Amino acid sequence: MFDIIVAGAGPAGIAAAIYAKRYNLEVLIIEKEYILGGKVLYPHWIENFIGIPEGISGAGLSEKLQAHLEFFKIPLKNALIQSISKNDKTFTVSLSDASELQAKAIVLAQGTKERSLGIPGEKEYKGRGVSSCATCDAPFFKHKTLAVIGGGNSALAETIYLAEFASKLHLVHRRMEFRGAEILAEQLLKNPIIQPHLGFTALEIRGDGQKVSSLLIENLNTKKQEEVFLDGLFIFAGYEPDTSFLTFKTELDDAGFIKTNENMETGIPGLYAAGDIRSKSLRQIITALSDGSIAAHSARDYIKG
Ligand code: NAP
Repeated sequence: MFDIIVAGAGPAGIAAAIYAKRYNLEVLIIEKEYILGGKVLYPHWIENFIGIPEGISGAGLSEKLQAHLEFFKIPLKNALIQSISKNDKTFTVSLSDASELQAKAIVLAQGTKERSLGIPGEKEYKGRGVSSCATCDAPFFKHKTLAVIGGGNSALAETIYLAEFASKLHLVHRRMEFRGAEILAEQLLKNPIIQPHLGFTALEIRGDGQKVSSLLIENLNTKKQEEVFLDGLFIFAGYEPDTSFLTFKTELDDAGFIKTNENMETGIPGLYAAGDIRSKSLRQIITALSDGSIAAHSARDYIKG
């Protein structure tokens, strides 16, 4: 019986585990991936992590988060969580290897999964010119034509990065305004190789059956269609939560994120949610770290009665 099981080793989960350990609680962190850090691994460069003004790579920050976890000798289990149930005051976590673990409190910090566009060609050409990780795939596209879909912080930041490799870059966004930070939008609009297509939706990803070759887009105002020829396509359409592993009901918002109060408490005693999986207005590494530390603090109060 653990005091706290933390589900997910992104920034929220790692912060929760470290705070729990520092409260002398028996804590276990469970992560399905072999490399820790969650979505921190994706951005090529992070320049708004307060206290590191020179910036740090996503991979670099992930390594530091993992080192911090190891410094506190926090046990980690590499497994996929199949379900979480609650009986009286005990939570049972069932894992993909058929084992079961029990805890007095749970911190849900699994983050979110990539949202797909659901357009023809998306699944077919994934990994064959279609990607959602610029850090992983940008070097394959030196002096090539690329397109990016999306207008959030991921799309903007990764467009700026991809433009260092590409000879031409089309940025396709369905609205006339970007969702991401103004500082990023201003920077990319100054780059002559980046051609924004604002107010356009992506209709179809085309290729020769082996690799991607073009993207069919439509002007949402005029309904005029255009085929953009390219060598690679990066999709940054945001993320969705997945709470299907919970065997009991906890309150979710309209988009499926877990509702909590400011103490990260869900409506279920002993169950906390932290980071991107939680309903909140600002999803950032620093807000995830904050959520995780608060969740561990609340769980400690709950366990100590
Ligand atoms: P996001 O903020 O949810 O943006 C997703 C983008 O994809 C939006 O522009 C959205 O358009 C577009 N989109 C969604 N579904 C679409 C569809 N079916 N067809 C076409 N476009 C679609 O996601 P994100 O940029 O990945 O960021 C996720 C979270 O991480 C955010 O909270 C973000 O602020 C944070 N983040 C922060 C940083 C940073 O601070 N440096 C970097 C990366 C991410 P609409 O705008 O029209 O909805």
